[in-house]
Amino acid sequence: MSTIDFEKFSKYSKPGPRYTSYPTALEFSDDFRYDDYLRFLESGKEKLSLYVHLPFCRSACYFCGCNVVFTSKEEKLSQYIEYLKKEIDILANHIDTNREVIQFHFGGGTPTYYKAFELDEIVSYIKSKFPNWSEDAEISCEIDPRFFNEDQMKVFAKHGFNRISFGVQDLDAQVQKEIHRIQPLELTKAAVDLARKYGINSINTDLIYGLPYQNLESFKKTLEGVITLDPDRFAVFNYAHVPWLMKTMRKFDETTLPSPEEKLKIFRYTIDFFEGHGYKMVGMDHFAKPEDELFAAIAKGELHRNFQGYTTKGGANLVGIGLTSIGEGSRYYAQNTKDMKAYEDALDEGRLPFERGVMLSEDDYLRKAVIMELMANFSIDIRRVEQEHGIDFKAYFADALDALQEFVDADLVEINAERITVSPTGTLLIRNIAMPFDAYMHQYAGNKKSFSKTV
Ligand code: SF4
Repeated sequence: MSTIDFEKFSKYSKPGPRYTSYPTALEFSDDFRYDDYLRFLESGKEKLSLYVHLPFCRSACYFCGCNVVFTSKEEKLSQYIEYLKKEIDILANHIDTNREVIQFHFGGGTPTYYKAFELDEIVSYIKSKFPNWSEDAEISCEIDPRFFNEDQMKVFAKHGFNRISFGVQDLDAQVQKEIHRIQPLELTKAAVDLARKYGINSINTDLIYGLPYQNLESFKKTLEGVITLDPDRFAVFNYAHVPWLMKTMRKFDETTLPSPEEKLKIFRYTIDFFEGHGYKMVGMDHFAKPEDELFAAIAKGELHRNFQGYTTKGGANLVGIGLTSIGEGSRYYAQNTKDMKAYEDALDEGRLPFERGVMLSEDDYLRKAVIMELMANFSIDIRRVEQEHGIDFKAYFADALDALQEFVDADLVEINAERITVSPTGTLLIRNIAMPFDAYMHQYAGNKKSFSKTV
């Protein structure tokens, strides 16, 4: 990786999407109607990826951007299970339930805020309605080590869970106090050991950089600590500071947030650190051991990015279940309501709790392919895009290629007749490099409250 001029890089710090979807969620609207969604569900033939959102948490981590319901009332949790079952019943009336399930993911919230027997009840119910699970399905759960016990792990083992993602974020005591999440390394280690004891062969650890009071020196210590867990993958996310959207983020003293230069130093150090410990970078924010299946996918240009990160299982129809969850087909995104009462009302009336979404135009479909390929593989195979979409790439994307020139001049991107390739250093700015291909960006120019900062 070439030497980074951090001063020069900070000029790229501007609001930009993370591209977990394209078009981004800002384009979701009620123009995409319930009937449209049902039509897609009913006509779909692709394999299924099921996402179940369990939104409850005991207390707020102030950095959190998830849609969370804070409660200590057990009846709220059990009532939600009853509604999940109603939703699964209605879905089963609109989907061919024999379609093969190749992915299942519990996200939250804190999925393990639920007791073992409740988790068992949810998974068993889904399996009773969608019985055709692939032998090598990816079955995963996000786990907060502060809420995790052996009974829950036994349920996961019984249902064939094979991936677990542990939230860590940072190990520094002051940072943990500030973000309102006290989680000693020993606690995380006990959780990781428990997962390993039950044969989980893919363990991921999530970290976040850009949090209050973090700096390069403090983050070095966090890395020294988490490497002792020896996970299979790390995800290192850039903290998205969007206090206009998330109230808890307003609790931070913004003067304690690391500068863009400091954040780049942290991330650059993180790359070197993990590479020095035998991991390789995957996409914009993941690291994995070289034998990980993600690298075989990269070699074939088949790595995909979705709402849960990077995956080798592209092309599945993602069906979101639960409050606020997002579904994705090749030509649409559909999101459930974020409001618990509206969620329950819809289900009581026998409707899915769908609220909004977007149907992809031909242009969206093409740009999605290009942006997702960039985000996942850091390159674009121009000829392949031309063949698959019947376009002249350089004519169609003339404006984008003009806008990329500054990155070419800075040796961050190389463009030839066959391929656009992002340099290793350029990967730090992958969101900026993808933005010229986004047809909606101009709408947000000058709007500082649209997205989090890219750097
Ligand atoms: S980070 Fe996880 S545990 Fe913390 S508030 Fe967000 S969803 Fe809940």
